[in-house]
Formats: sequence, structure tokens, C-alpha cells
Amino acid sequence: MSTNKTYHIAVIPGDGIGKEIIPPAQQVMEKVTQGVADFEYENFDLGAERYLRDGVILPDEELERIKKTDAILLGAIGDPRVHAGVLERGLLLKLRFALDQYVNLRPSKLYPGVESPLRNPGDIDFVVVREGTEGLYCGAGGDIRKGTAQEVATEVSINTAYGVERVVRYAFELAMKRKKHVTLVHKKNVLVNAGDMWQRIVDEVGAEYPEVFHDYLHIDAATIFMVTDPSRFDVLLTDNLFGDIITDEAGSVVGGIGYSASGCINASNEYPSMFEPIHGSAPDIAGKGIANPTATILSTAMLLRHLGMDEPAAQIEAVVEADIAQNAQTKRTTEEVGRDILARL
Ligand code: ATP
Ligand code: MG
Repeated sequence: MSTNKTYHIAVIPGDGIGKEIIPPAQQVMEKVTQGVADFEYENFDLGAERYLRDGVILPDEELERIKKTDAILLGAIGDPRVHAGVLERGLLLKLRFALDQYVNLRPSKLYPGVESPLRNPGDIDFVVVREGTEGLYCGAGGDIRKGTAQEVATEVSINTAYGVERVVRYAFELAMKRKKHVTLVHKKNVLVNAGDMWQRIVDEVGAEYPEVFHDYLHIDAATIFMVTDPSRFDVLLTDNLFGDIITDEAGSVVGGIGYSASGCINASNEYPSMFEPIHGSAPDIAGKGIANPTATILSTAMLLRHLGMDEPAAQIEAVVEADIAQNAQTKRTTEEVGRDILARL
């Protein structure tokens, strides 16, 4: 009889290479938690293929079942045959809002052996904490007189004290476990209402964390420092739109999207959090068995850490780092990468 704790994991392999990179990630997750935890997986057939086949995006009944799980592991969603926005709004944003995943967490680390496009990358190891449920992406706004010369289209940025405070607090808590430095990124000289509120809340919450140093950068300056001096960053805290942009830039300075994991986190643990590689479904290589599962394997480390399994998570990260150091320049199949990483555990 096993005394392990059992976790229910919703698995959404999704489209394209999503289906190929999930199995090795599950194998790694299982091996590293042997004797600690058991996983019961529930697979959800969601994404472009289901939508093209049945016209279904995310049935309420399936959303309710997802809500009852402990965490979600997602491969990738997207297909060039599906109109832009349909799956982003109908599936990914719907999940994010329904599960109140208000922190979008994206670590960026330059691993030894990986080439950065920067000439002097320095020691890059920071995390972007992006607000995930408000700002310009909350869906407020509309379009009137559509298609006429008098058309008016608006998107409204909503920022609530409640929504900002909880993500600010998350950033400071995270900084306590890292290099104790939070940088607020905004545009408070122009977006004076929201910017002022963000800064005030950072100052207030920051006063409760005297050990954490906090500073501020305008988004435009932050995008420059990301290229000229990224090693200055520890925890970057920002809103939904700025976070979307700067995380892509962050992914590129650490040598591309192949090694970048992310989490959409409900930090109050009321609903499950979701972990996924930041790359997409890569239709150009889907089905060939050559997709790199490393980012998805790193996503399982984030998932385990979120469930309180810090040690197995750190083990995955150490093993992936060693694997990258040795093999970053080697062409390997999906299966080979999975096998090499498993062998090191
Ligand atoms: P999406 O809209 O789903 O984000 P995208 O076109 O923006 O898709 P990706 O699907 O991430 O981006 O693909 C971008 C490029 O990176 C493609 O050439 C793809 O083959 C490559 N790529 C993405 N992920 C991987 C991976 N895990 N292993 C190898 N190559 C990958
Ligand atoms: Mg993309």
C-alpha cells in the first residue's frame, strides 16, 4: 500500500507538438516523485482539432471537471486553420478567467551551453510576474458603427486595488525566495491613473517586506535594459499587456523559446493553476517526432513546486540544466531528449 499523496492532474495535450511533448514530461514528473506522490491524470481533448471536428471549444461540463483537479498540464493550443483569437479567447483566456489565474509567471534563465543573441548576456536569471486577469486584456470595451467610416472601437484597461494588490504581494513573496529585488514595470508618466495606483500599492506592500529592494522602470526603458543589462533583474512585476510583450522579449534573450516554461497561477489555491511551455503548437514540425520537450519538462517542475514539492522540482531543474549543458548543440528526437533526462534522474 502506498502512503503517497495522490494528485489529480488535468492534462490538455492540445494541438500539434503538444501531443508529443506531454508524455516525456509526464514520465519525468512521475520518476522524480516516486515514493512521494502519485498522479491521476484526466485527459481533456481540447484545442483546434476538437474545434475543427465538432465545433466545440470548452464545454461547461469539462470546465467544471477541470476546476476540481489539483493542477493542469497543457501542451500547446493553436492551428493555422483556426481564425486568430477563437482559441485564445474561447479556451486559454476563458480558463485563465474561470480559474482566476491572476499571476502569469515566466522565469527566464540563460542556461550554460545555450547561446543568447546578446553579445554580453551576463548572468540572466529573472522571473516576470504578470497580472493575468485585468488590464487591457479583461475584455471591457466594444465596437460601435462597425465597418463604417464612423466606427469606434475601444478596449478599456481595468485595474482594481484588489487585483493589483494580490499580484504585488505574490511578487514580494517570490522575491523573498530569490534575490530580494522587485522592479515594477509600467508607464506611470502617461498612464497616470493606473500607474499611480500600481506604484502606491507597491510602496505599501513593499513596506511590509523591508528586506526586499524595489524600484521602478517605464516599460520602454525596461525593454532596453532587457537587451543591454538583463542581469540587473530579479522579479519584474507588471500588468497584463506589458507583461505579454516583455515576456516574449525575455524568452528571446535567453536563447529562444525552447527552454521557457510558464505558469498561470491561482495563488489563493481556490482553483487549479496551469503550467505550459511558452512555445506554440509548431505546426511546421508536428508529427515528426523532433519537438524539444525541455520547456514542458521545466513546466512540470513549476507544477510540482506549486503543489509544494520543492525538492523534486529542483531536481528536475538541475537535471535539465545538466542535459542542456551537455547536449544543447546536439540534434535529438523528442524521445531521445526525454530518455536522456530520465536517465539522469
Ligand atoms: P503559436 O501561435 O501557437 O504561439 P507560433 O507560430 O507563434 O505559434 P510556435 O508554435 O512556438 O510559434 O513555433 C515557432 C517556431 O519555433 C516554429 O518554427 C517551431 O517549429 C519552433 N518550435 C516551437 N516549439 C518548439 C519545440 N518545442 N521544439 C522545437 N521547435 C519548436
Ligand atoms: Mg506564439
